[in-house]
Amino acid sequence: MACGLCLPGCPTYQRTADESESPRGRVALMRAVAVGRLQPSVTLKAHIDHCLGCQACEAACPSRVPYGALLTDARALLASQPPKARLYHTLLHATQAPRLLALAYDAARLGTRAGLTRLLPRPLSALPRLPARSPYRRPRATAGGRPVSLFLGCTAHLDGDTLAAAMTILRHHGFAISIPHAQGCCGALARHAGDTRLADRQEKRTWRAFADSAGPVIGFASGCVAQLHAGRQEGKPRFPAAVLDIHQFLAEEVPATSWRLAGLPKTIAVHEPCSLRNALKSAEAVYTLLRYIPDARIVPLPGNDTCCGGAGDYFLREPVMATALRTAKQSAMTGIQADIVVSANIGCRLQMRLGETAPLPIVHPLVVLAGQLGKT
Ligand code: SF4
Ligand code: SF4
Repeated sequence: MACGLCLPGCPTYQRTADESESPRGRVALMRAVAVGRLQPSVTLKAHIDHCLGCQACEAACPSRVPYGALLTDARALLASQPPKARLYHTLLHATQAPRLLALAYDAARLGTRAGLTRLLPRPLSALPRLPARSPYRRPRATAGGRPVSLFLGCTAHLDGDTLAAAMTILRHHGFAISIPHAQGCCGALARHAGDTRLADRQEKRTWRAFADSAGPVIGFASGCVAQLHAGRQEGKPRFPAAVLDIHQFLAEEVPATSWRLAGLPKTIAVHEPCSLRNALKSAEAVYTLLRYIPDARIVPLPGNDTCCGGAGDYFLREPVMATALRTAKQSAMTGIQADIVVSANIGCRLQMRLGETAPLPIVHPLVVLAGQLGKT
């Protein structure tokens, strides 16, 4: 099938009008390699590298072409081609140790503030000013109530406010929260980079950590949950029974009457991360939960059908396209009459706050919800 219905929604095709930068073109390139009509090359890898993996094409495709899975395979196949930034691949390995990743982030943040990143090779030299991370406090498991297991991944150390909000909400609703200490990264960044060995290692470690989970595994970073979910859909062995985005879980499991949130007379614009919108298809749950807040006006951020350019590691690998997409998102924030923007993925929030100050505060939806709990 080559109907082209996926083309208009593809951010890279929108900006280049180049068939090789479209989903249809990339699928054709992948097929040509698979049947031996084309040899893997640096040029071919560039077209695949430019893809954001946002899966807007998969959501638009009437023939259900599994673009995300094809892209993962293509990246693994092309991983032997010279990487654009070897230093970046070294940084990838920091995801194996969340504390090390947090330290690397702090060092990079100071470097961008002092202008020291200019001394690094591209694309790291193009890294804009990084925002401060919120402090991490190791969460404690709670007993009693219905069991859930919380996935922290490697990003919770960068996102302490959201972790604290998730714990507050789950405790408030009486869940018994288990947090296996042996868990690690979901493997998404390594998978995007085509480093199958590292991704498999990280994924296996996480499966083992959650193998005995009594309840569903829930996560609050939609990109990580989407990666875990994809692994489960592939039927990989020993994967826990259910992996859910926390908004979907709360919207399904906690009745509206149990929330009792204090009013908030503000307009909240919802950014829908591609991982939540296209991969997990649970963006609506964010709206459902926020609408429980009395007096709050909940609106979508214009342009939700287009990726912000964060896309996991994309903002590091492809700074030119990432900056163009970020600028469009920041313009949408400037143009909308809102007080606050919420986004369920840490990578998107980071991307939208990069560079000069973002036009509006951007937080995780759980932070807003937790702030209104227990005030009535
Ligand atoms: S995943 Fe996104 S960027 Fe990549 S081809 Fe599909 S729509 Fe385009
Ligand atoms: S990937 Fe799907 S939407 Fe895109 S050209 Fe092929 S069949 Fe059409």
